[in-house]
Amino acid sequence: MSLEKTEGVILRSIPKGETSKILTVYTRDFGKLALIAKGAKGPKSKFGGILEPLSHLAIVFYMKDSREVQLLSQGDLLNFFPGIRQDLEKTWPALAVCDLLNRLMPPRSGVGKEKSRASFGLLLDVLRGIDGADRNLINFWWWFLIKLIKILGYRLELIRCVRCRQAVEGTMAVRVEKGGVICPRCDDEPGRRTVLTAGSLRFLVKLSGLLGPAVSTLNPSKGQVKEIDFFLDQFLKFHIESFQGLKSIKFWREMRDRP
Ligand SMILES: [Zn+2]
Repeated sequence: MSLEKTEGVILRSIPKGETSKILTVYTRDFGKLALIAKGAKGPKSKFGGILEPLSHLAIVFYMKDSREVQLLSQGDLLNFFPGIRQDLEKTWPALAVCDLLNRLMPPRSGVGKEKSRASFGLLLDVLRGIDGADRNLINFWWWFLIKLIKILGYRLELIRCVRCRQAVEGTMAVRVEKGGVICPRCDDEPGRRTVLTAGSLRFLVKLSGLLGPAVSTLNPSKGQVKEIDFFLDQFLKFHIESFQGLKSIKFWREMRDRP
């Protein structure tokens, strides 16, 4: 058994017995970890009230390779993301991000150390972005998806035709199974295609080039929100089986669709 130090964001926290909590934490150095926090529910707990989803912590824990759930020894709060917690419109996209990572990532650094570190960096960037933003929160969700898709090694081509490599212009068909846009000359096989109008394509290309806080500066039109949402949904559903039916995303959509 070794004593390890890292930082992580709590994706999920469930009670265990009378006094403890089982946490799912996305960590910088070990990927997704299950940790038990003994005595975390008591009023005199040394952890205070910080062991909640979305808390960014410096943690110390006992690691034993043969064990599925590791033992948390110490947790110090680095960021509580107060902006996200105070505003439901921000809470939902932030929880959707945590939910998706939880669903997608295998335990420990099962996707490889590099990818797991890069996705931890992305998680912090997107939470900081949502925390500080005052508009266009949905951009962060799309931005997170586009970056994560690339980190995990999927192809997402929005500038050149996936077959002939010519730069495309205007409204284009997208073949999710081929990983991007396909020009009318090459699009001759049967099968489902999604269409992205010229505006939506330009929007997505711009969005993927932005950094952190700048993500909220682009204004999508109502039509673009629908199109982009539908396209990314199709993309994830095709490539990532476990994507179907995330509750947080369902609630968030219902909230957004309310008049
Ligand atoms: Zn082509």
